[in-house]
Amino acid sequence: MDENCVFCRIVRGQIPSPRVYEDDQVIAINDINPAAPIHLLLVPKEHVESLMTAGPQHEALVGKMLLLAARLAREQGSDNGFRVVINNGPGGGQEVFHLHMHVLAGPRPWKRTL
Ligand code: AMP
Ligand code: ZN
Repeated sequence: MDENCVFCRIVRGQIPSPRVYEDDQVIAINDINPAAPIHLLLVPKEHVESLMTAGPQHEALVGKMLLLAARLAREQGSDNGFRVVINNGPGGGQEVFHLHMHVLAGPRPWKRTL
């Protein structure tokens, strides 16, 4: 838990954000500034900065998030595909330094590229 981390605060319920999905390890929320008609963020409950600081202990978690992305995209109404984006570090365009997976889907054109 990082007191200054917006996603830690959402996980803790200190910033309200309706959960599209939740289990013991992961939450899914709607991105506050969506880049596509469906734009979810899959956020692990554990504060891990990015894939650059993730370790072997996170292998199952990251795999689970990828499979969850496919399931949630389908459940949100996307039947013909979706995109997954993970920005890592300033060089990768990451702005919130708590690992998260963008799940983008829905009718094109999309507003912007992440
Ligand atoms: P990234 O550039 O990959 O770090 O993306 C961070 C994402 O978090 C952006 O798409 C933001 O719109 C999103 N975001 C920031 N604050 C919130 C929030 N309070 N609730 C939902 N999404 C957020
Ligand atoms: Zn955090």
